[in-house]
Amino acid sequence: MSASTPRNDGPARPDGTEYPVQKPEADWAAELTPQEYHVLREAGTEAPFVGEYTDSKTEGVYSCRACGAELFRSAGKFDSHCGWPSFFEPLAKDSVVYLEDVSLGRSRTEVRCAACGGHLGHVFEGEGYNTPTDLRYCINSISLRMLPAAPQT
Ligand SMILES: [Zn+2]
Repeated sequence: MSASTPRNDGPARPDGTEYPVQKPEADWAAELTPQEYHVLREAGTEAPFVGEYTDSKTEGVYSCRACGAELFRSAGKFDSHCGWPSFFEPLAKDSVVYLEDVSLGRSRTEVRCAACGGHLGHVFEGEGYNTPTDLRYCINSISLRMLPAAPQT
């Protein structure tokens, strides 16, 4: 795993409001595993092709592993073959927030949980995937927790 964007912008979301879920960093560190903490709170990146949800086709809802907010649905997931779980849309427009990330010397758009500010990954557009939005939300599995849909009865 490698670091990308250090989180140094405090409790404010890009629109100036505060994240509704806030805890001292020591509490996050106690609740999350070191790997989860590194990605969610220090904007690290999981190695490609190792995440538990990379190829998952299970139907259900993906929530933030830090705070439990619902972020993505399996219906919005697609096969990007990029090595990370990829979605073409979040569960709702306001499920996530976006920040400019210039950490690799080029501009990328970081995606964070709108509830707690946990780092999720990045979003890329115009790559030509055959999806409804032409967006690829490239998300770390370790930032998510998947709750499978109840089986049909
Ligand atoms: Zn969250």
